[in-house]
Amino acid sequence: MHDTEYFKNRLLLLKEELLKRINAIDKDIRHEGMSADWEEQATERENDEVLELLGNASEDELAMINAALKRIDTGEYFECSECGAEIPQSRLELLPFTTHCVSCAEKSEN
Ligand SMILES: [Zn+2]
Repeated sequence: MHDTEYFKNRLLLLKEELLKRINAIDKDIRHEGMSADWEEQATERENDEVLELLGNASEDELAMINAALKRIDTGEYFECSECGAEIPQSRLELLPFTTHCVSCAEKSEN
């Protein structure tokens, strides 16, 4: 039996944490009042770039989590999207939003 509820709850928790992180990053980017100091302004801009990269990575992760949740609902979560083989639960434990079994993942890396 697949422990669907367990993985669904796990993904929902991950999603919640991620949304919190995205909100925090958004707030940081929209900081108001630039400092007068030129050097500080440069530092702030650098920070913004880092924050934006972080934000983009989080958005990507969110898309993967949402896709995984959809696969849980359609019953495809435990199947490799490439060959249809069963993805072991131990693998999903480590990579909750993987869509590939080990051998297909290895193939696509090459
Ligand atoms: Zn496969």
